[in-house]
Amino acid sequence: MTLDEQFDDDDDVVMLCPACGDNYLHIPKVGVGTGKNYTEITSSGTDVCKKKPNGFPRVYRGTVVVLTVRCETCLQSHHIIFRFHKGQIVIENEETSTEEWDIWRD
Ligand SMILES: [Zn+2]
Repeated sequence: MTLDEQFDDDDDVVMLCPACGDNYLHIPKVGVGTGKNYTEITSSGTDVCKKKPNGFPRVYRGTVVVLTVRCETCLQSHHIIFRFHKGQIVIENEETSTEEWDIWRD
């Protein structure tokens, strides 16, 4: 994950695209995985599904939060994955594809 600066209490920071470094990112999906299921929120609604052992999301031992972002500039999408492992929160980035832009905007 790339941020435009380190942040302290009460500071806002801006996430940058992991591919091109631009700061115009949208949020088309958010997912939360528990030991029993994976819940995904998109513009279509909320879907609770069982984990797929050989597909995404991978099976993790702890909680996983997946923020899907899509860049306005390079159009690349990424899963920014926050997963709990042995008392630490590990942050992963993997490229993905989606045609959606935002869960919601007015
Ligand atoms: Zn980009």
